[in-house]
Amino acid sequence: MSDYDVDLFVIGGGSGGVRAARIAAQHGARVMVAEEYRMGGTCVIRGCVPKKLLVYAARFRGEFEDAAGYGWTLSHPSFDWPTLITNKDKEIARLEAAYTATLDRAGVKIVKTRATFADAHTVQLASGERVRAAHILISTGGHPSFGDPIPGIEHVISSNEAFHLPALPGRVVVQGGGYVALEFATIFAGLGSEVTVIYRGENILRGFDDDVRHHVRMDMEKRGVRVVTGCKVAAIERGGANLSVHLSSGYHIPADCVMFATGRAPNVSKLGLEQAGVQIAKNGGIAVDEYSRTSAQNIYAVGDVTNRVNLTPVAIREGHAFADTVFGGKPTAVDHTNVPTAVFSEPEVGAVGLTETQARERLAQTDIYKAMFKPLKATLSGRDTTVLLKLVVDGLSGRVVGCHVVGEGAAEMIQLAAVAVKMGATKADFDATMALHPTAAEELVTMRTRSASYTRAAAE
Ligand SMILES: Cc1cc2nc3c(=O)[nH]c(=O)nc-3n(C[C@H](O)[C@H](O)[C@H](O)COP(=O)(O)OP(=O)(O)OC[C@H]3O[C@@H](n4cnc5c(N)ncnc54)[C@H](O)[C@@H]3O)c2cc1C
Repeated sequence: MSDYDVDLFVIGGGSGGVRAARIAAQHGARVMVAEEYRMGGTCVIRGCVPKKLLVYAARFRGEFEDAAGYGWTLSHPSFDWPTLITNKDKEIARLEAAYTATLDRAGVKIVKTRATFADAHTVQLASGERVRAAHILISTGGHPSFGDPIPGIEHVISSNEAFHLPALPGRVVVQGGGYVALEFATIFAGLGSEVTVIYRGENILRGFDDDVRHHVRMDMEKRGVRVVTGCKVAAIERGGANLSVHLSSGYHIPADCVMFATGRAPNVSKLGLEQAGVQIAKNGGIAVDEYSRTSAQNIYAVGDVTNRVNLTPVAIREGHAFADTVFGGKPTAVDHTNVPTAVFSEPEVGAVGLTETQARERLAQTDIYKAMFKPLKATLSGRDTTVLLKLVVDGLSGRVVGCHVVGEGAAEMIQLAAVAVKMGATKADFDATMALHPTAAEELVTMRTRSASYTRAAAE
């Protein structure tokens, strides 16, 4: 008989934890999962899924506007926020139940409580019970982080609260330039709010290709979102129902709602990590090796709490790899290169691989292929918009090392382009692929003329 109550205790029932628990159980482990809020975690409850549902809702505005050029007459479509939120909540509850049922079927025991470490093999449940485990997985995710406090910070909401606002705010200020900020700017603007995005840096979408950043900003502004860069929110004052947002530049903006999407921090505090001998890395997440093992030999960590690549499919892959490594007899390290990513803003962004700047820093020769054009749909609708497609190519090997798209369907295109990039496809392979006409994606295989070529100066 084992000295332990379970073979695996998972702290956190989100994307990474749920996958790890199920696969470990399928490998024959006795598994228990603690979840302090709702099963499914950030992605299902207050991240990817509800966000995308709200994005779908917001995009109807553009469809209604575009319909006129195609002969449709629509008499003043109206929008009801409570209906959207109620329907979204029903779907989220259905998904949460599905996650719970999946784990039940796999024989995993779920405890709906907070869990912390008493020592490296003992988990303390907030409900009072202690559980002894041979292995423990930390998959506690992250939380919105507002940075330094400012006067009036109590009036600020994060994406967590944005999903449950009682009514659609008339005027919204969103601080942040990352994907969550831009997606919520798109949601609010599409549903009818007046939106201002405030970002302290030079341009939005830091980390994305510079052409993408420029293109998204230009197109968002055409769609009526005001983007103010080079300053930040310094203070917020409430006067009755109105908020006054004071900027570091000296200006102020009246608002009904202020949302900060200024980054997320790993959930590492008050977990008792010191009692378990688990160390924190420089990036603020739990330090792990390529098998997600922490500094304590029986304790692992996956997903956002490790602050590697904070995306759902990555957390899932890490959770799966952990279970295969520890319980499946198949040591598996996760490859964090060429992870495709999207921004579900209007316009949409999809990207995989190196940006032009990264390629020029790393490669001896970088070739750039670019196309920018008015999409066919915008001809009759009259919408003032353009699609951007960009390939970053290793000039010596011919390999496509980066693919960046801005425009309708960008995320769907990039999921497939990522297969080619991951396989090491060359520009010649792209060229040899027959175009599918008429699509925007066909430009990816028909760009024949290099728009630029750079040779890296030899290091001194
Ligand atoms: C607004 C928003 C939109 C996003 N959109 C996308 C997207 O489009 N695509 C994408 O790939 N990613 C997206 N993400 C990121 C994605 O949600 C995360 O990368 C993913 O959920 C990480 O999974 P995880 O398992 O590491 O953590 P989580 O899913 O956050 O799960 C952690 C769980 O642990 C629980 N927990 C924490 N501490 C304890 C404790 N001590 N005891 C018990 N339970 C605990 C929490 O309640 C939570 O349920 C989005 C995130 C946000 C915030």
